[in-house]
Amino acid sequence: MPQISIIIPVYEEEESLPELQAWIVKVMETKGLSYEVIYVDDGSKDNSWQVIKDLSLRDANVKAIRFIRNYGKSAALNVGFSKAAGEVVVTMDADLQDSPEEIPELYRMITEEGFDLVSGWKRKRHDPMSKTIPSRLFNGVTRFISGIKLHDFNCGLKAYSNKVVKNIDIYGEMHRYIPLIAKWNGFGKIGEKEVAHSPRKYGTTKFGIERFVNGFLDLISVSFVNRYRKNPMHFFGSMGSLSFMTGFAITVWLIYEKISGLRNGLHVREITDQPLFFLALVALIVGVQLFLTGFMAEMMTSNSTHKSDYNISDEINCEA
Ligand code: UDP
Ligand code: MG
Repeated sequence: MPQISIIIPVYEEEESLPELQAWIVKVMETKGLSYEVIYVDDGSKDNSWQVIKDLSLRDANVKAIRFIRNYGKSAALNVGFSKAAGEVVVTMDADLQDSPEEIPELYRMITEEGFDLVSGWKRKRHDPMSKTIPSRLFNGVTRFISGIKLHDFNCGLKAYSNKVVKNIDIYGEMHRYIPLIAKWNGFGKIGEKEVAHSPRKYGTTKFGIERFVNGFLDLISVSFVNRYRKNPMHFFGSMGSLSFMTGFAITVWLIYEKISGLRNGLHVREITDQPLFFLALVALIVGVQLFLTGFMAEMMTSNSTHKSDYNISDEINCEA
């Protein structure tokens, strides 16, 4: 078992990879740390896979995984998590913006200070304003919602104790919320380390504003799914009951009105002719539907534990 597994999601980063690999090897060897590097090619169309393949054939410490298409950074990290053998798992970006020099200290914080997760903080960030401004907003909102005091949730450079990564399952744009997901799964000792950050040397960013919007939407679904994934009936059942009870109460009211009207010799319209009756009907039907949706969700969650979904086309050095 190596001391450190370094997971690197790669989407069209052919120019950076040889430099990054050499840099990692230099740092790990200087510090005498045992390691493996897991490159996950997230369906690149450039030469990235060829480069990764060459690295992995030359060095048994390099594991290589290739997706058949682009599934996104979260899926790439997720498969890396499942393959990681190291005591500490580090994730970093492939574009040379994160520095491997930070890894030994991250390793020390996990193994000696007992953190479950340590997130990098790009205090002096070298990215355009179009990224830094939405990022500030995002971090503020995420801090508020989660109560986790991190400056930089989205930093690609993070370290985890191995048991944390084996217990989280991410997809979509969820990589931004790993600290929240870890905390919700009981890994609440979360630390932060200021890390160096460089401008992108080759290629261009793969994350534009639309992925930011998706990220916000994912936060809603992550919170929701986290709250109800094990017991969807708690949500659908309570909404369904509320609706059904409203419909039922209206019906009772209409019947009462009709009966007391008749008793007093007044002319009261047929219940089925009352506009309120239609409201009651809709509420009753919606209530039953929500209940059935809840049952269906319960049955589905009892059949599936993993929501993530991806196909791998090649693997090198990955046999357990
Ligand atoms: N990445 C990926 N799949 C994607 C988009 C990006 O694996 O669909 C990788 C990318 O190769 C890089 C990391 O995720 O290693 C961060 O991407 P990028 O540098 O473009 O993001 P930024 O630093 O601009 O936020
Ligand atoms: Mg980058």
